[in-house]
Amino acid sequence: MLQQVNGHSSGSDAQGRESLREDLQEFLGGEVPLHQLDDLTKVNPVTLETVLRCLQARYTADTFYTNAGCTLVALNPFKPVPQLYSPELMREYHAAPQPQKLKPHIFTVGEQTYRNVRSLIEPVNQSIVVSGESGAGKTWTSRCLMKFYAVVAASPTSWESHKIAERIEQRILNSNPVMEAFGNACTLRNNNSSRFGKFIQLQLNRDHQMTGAAIQTYLLEKTRVACQDSTERNFHIFYQICKGASADERLQWHLPEGAAFSWLPNPERTLEEDCFEVTREAMLHLGIDAPTQNNIFQALAGLLHLGNIRFADSGDEAQPCRPMDDGAVRTSALLLRLPEDPLLETLRIRTIRAGRQQQVFRKPCSQAECDTRRDCLAKLVYARLFDWLVSVINSSVCADPASWTTFIGLLDVYGFESFPHNSLEQLCINYANEKLQQHFVAHYLRAQQEEYAVEGLEWSFVNYQDNQTCLDLIEGSPISICSLINEECRLNRPSSAAQLQTRIESALAGSPCLGHNKLSPEPSFVVLHYAGSVRYHTVGLVEKNKDPIPPELTRLLQQSQDTLLKVLFPADPEEKSQEEPSGQSRAPVLTVVSKFKASLEQLLQVLQATTPHYIRCIKPNSQGRAQALHREEVLNQLEACGLVETIHISAAGFPIRVSHRTFVERYASLRRLHPRAPPDPHSPSPDEGHSEGSPHAEQATLRALLQDILHTLPALEAATPAAP
Ligand code: ADP
Ligand code: MG
Repeated sequence: MLQQVNGHSSGSDAQGRESLREDLQEFLGGEVPLHQLDDLTKVNPVTLETVLRCLQARYTADTFYTNAGCTLVALNPFKPVPQLYSPELMREYHAAPQPQKLKPHIFTVGEQTYRNVRSLIEPVNQSIVVSGESGAGKTWTSRCLMKFYAVVAASPTSWESHKIAERIEQRILNSNPVMEAFGNACTLRNNNSSRFGKFIQLQLNRDHQMTGAAIQTYLLEKTRVACQDSTERNFHIFYQICKGASADERLQWHLPEGAAFSWLPNPERTLEEDCFEVTREAMLHLGIDAPTQNNIFQALAGLLHLGNIRFADSGDEAQPCRPMDDGAVRTSALLLRLPEDPLLETLRIRTIRAGRQQQVFRKPCSQAECDTRRDCLAKLVYARLFDWLVSVINSSVCADPASWTTFIGLLDVYGFESFPHNSLEQLCINYANEKLQQHFVAHYLRAQQEEYAVEGLEWSFVNYQDNQTCLDLIEGSPISICSLINEECRLNRPSSAAQLQTRIESALAGSPCLGHNKLSPEPSFVVLHYAGSVRYHTVGLVEKNKDPIPPELTRLLQQSQDTLLKVLFPADPEEKSQEEPSGQSRAPVLTVVSKFKASLEQLLQVLQATTPHYIRCIKPNSQGRAQALHREEVLNQLEACGLVETIHISAAGFPIRVSHRTFVERYASLRRLHPRAPPDPHSPSPDEGHSEGSPHAEQATLRALLQDILHTLPALEAATPAAP
């Protein structure tokens, strides 16, 4: 679909001339100051350095959004800019005849997306992919877009329906504080860092009003419940409870003022995110009533006490470890409504089934094993609680399938990651980014090239960097990094990190995307991603991929008398969780990688059935300071999101897209400036043989018109004042 440019129809020569002059000036560039360049395709030449300089100039001028061809680059202002997100501005972008003519903004993307849903005869679902590294502003952006749609996609006619619509929009917006309280945490990179990926589908009815939403989450970082870096924090909700509970609640949840919890580091840091009241209020709006909330918070307090349980070695291998503080065991059992002795037993003693009769053996755990089981219990409860919350939110906001026809999907995913130490989490995240990059390039180029073919335009097809080889290396069949890691899990053998490295390097030696692993002191392998090379350490990789849940833990939780835990751990479900090693277990193991791969494929399927739009968030500096753009940090991010390549792809296309009709309407008056020579009676008329209104006739008219305009250029130049 061709976009229209400035559609005011003019009758006079002067207007026609003015239009052409404006457009030529805009399209041909000229000496526009860097900070005024709204589109990075116009920097010349397009290099990392020039792109960076342009962004820097714009950032200094408090301009945070810049187009990069088909994507929008969003620089995090790191300061409140309320006027940039006001409902008035939302309405302005919504009402603009051509929002793309306004300053680049996420609302342009939002509005364009919304128009696509509305204007096509066969409505096509849309998606907006928001990417960037932690702290770059992805969640902020998706939240703003949700607010944008809550404003522009809500215009019901009657008062009654207005009330209903308001409720649903408010409920959808309320999902944010709840999801963030339970899924976000303060990290080194971001005080409010989302520890999960999210795809939210905003559902629109026939009248293009938001009638509901569905949320899908990815890879919650559940280890954070039981293990936090000393400079980071646990999920916000724990701090919210400890700071915001009333005196009665403190008593009930055993959270006396000033109580110390080992899973609650850095409680003294006061964050805006620690607002218990906001979370509660939002939960209430989502239909989570006060007693259920009470249940949830009590269970979370139980987890905090669980974290205070310490074990001491008994000094005798045949004897289980001793808990160092009976109080912590008692209180956590009380709050989780678990029987105390079985809790202690489960944490300290492993049961193994072996032999033909599947005899049960009981083996006391070492101190380290006890700690692992305690942590595992907390992760299990928290992960189930999080999933349950998402499902409750979904049932509260999801519209009846019959009531919605199209959707706009917002994807807020972790960007490419490369740290000094990378493990399974980074492998999954970077794998997702490879998939998204492939989808982006393929979609954008294909769309562009198909469009040119339809228009009959001469066009040399671009050869873009295909990342299929890298994806083959990661996920391909029969042998890839994922399959090898999965195989180690399936074989269930004690494998060393060095062995895994050797297997990967020998089985996949032929892949050009497997980097050279030079002199690494630790067992690792290197993948050459489109966004840069990353070294993945293999220590603990297989274990993380197994994510083993001892079946005794699940069985214990099924004994809970707590109504919430009963829902999270229903009695006698067909638990498919991995049994403890019992010789040759043949049950298929659902590993972290295979689950992630399946959900990623599902996501890609959804995205492929939509028209995608891209917003690349950039973090100007890692300290979260306003007005400071650090060159190296930004350069790394520009590289990681392949921005220069994107600009090249965009710039290789035709930058101006005008429909035939608009073009004729806009420039027809110029024809009179320079009348054409009378047609040569011997040459066929351009329109000959084509019925009026046919595409060929339209193109012929257009060609003739273009020739006329080219003739008028000298006259136009003479009439145009020279640039100062
Ligand atoms: P991400 O989701 O990419 O990790 P966030 O969206 O949480 O990052 O943004 C990190 C922080 O940056 C936010 O908490 C907020 O303080 C700030 N921020 C991000 N975008 C904006 C914006 N457009 N205006 C003002 N502050 C912003
Ligand atoms: Mg986030």
